Amino acid sequence: MRKKIIAGNWKLNKTVSEALAFAEALAPLVAGKDGVDIVICPPYTALYSVSQAFQGTGVATAAQGLFWKPSGAYTSYVSAPLILDAGAKYVLIGHSETRGRFGVAEEGLTPDLLKAFGETDSGVNVKTHAALQAGLIPIVCIGETLAERKDGSTDAIVRDQVTKALDGVSSDLVRSQLIFAYEPVWAIGTGEVCAADEAGRVCGVVRKTIESLYGADVANAVRIQYGGSMKPDNAAELLAQEHIDGGLIGGASLKPADFAAIVAAA
Ligand code: PEP
Repeated sequence: MRKKIIAGNWKLNKTVSEALAFAEALAPLVAGKDGVDIVICPPYTALYSVSQAFQGTGVATAAQGLFWKPSGAYTSYVSAPLILDAGAKYVLIGHSETRGRFGVAEEGLTPDLLKAFGETDSGVNVKTHAALQAGLIPIVCIGETLAERKDGSTDAIVRDQVTKALDGVSSDLVRSQLIFAYEPVWAIGTGEVCAADEAGRVCGVVRKTIESLYGADVANAVRIQYGGSMKPDNAAELLAQEHIDGGLIGGASLKPADFAAIVAAA
């Protein structure tokens, strides 16, 4: 039986004081929910304060990304050891917004500006290794764009992203540490939800891919979240799917009551 994991990705939202007000409001709403892992991913600027605020509440924190080098002359980047030092337990890797695969058209985002995002499959792989080596739990995000879904390549894209993310990762670490988040890009921040049975089916493709690489025991131990416009009113149906072990939630994680309602559905 895999323990459900509900993670809220705040993206580029909340000042430190807004983040602390959220933590104060959320803690009593999720108190005693020991059967679910609860995670909040604040922006880097609030990571330390939010981690401190959630101490002893059962809510853990995640960084929204990392750089694979531990330290050095890498202006503006944040490494796994620094993320751990700030109090986080998890890290998102390969979110579609850091891969530059946006679900909604971004005004003024020219091809040249898009390069600034540019997280690639090989980047996801080195970051996964860096996170695991430091003792952080990676939540590796994968998923197809609308164009890829329309041309029928969803399963192939997902298999390819999973396989490349896991290159060289030991079966012990996959079994005990790794989490995947299946996030169809067209459903992120768009209000468009993937039908629950289809989301469950693609999460099953993720599990089959892990099985083909590491065997059924490992595949059955790995938790796979769904992300893409998950909300209080659709969470229960998505979370009831056999292969969906949790949610990665953007918009609906910004209000304590909405996020707590999704935790309650898990
Ligand atoms: C996300 O950011 O990972 C996400 C799923 O966003 P939203 O819930 O807003 O679609």
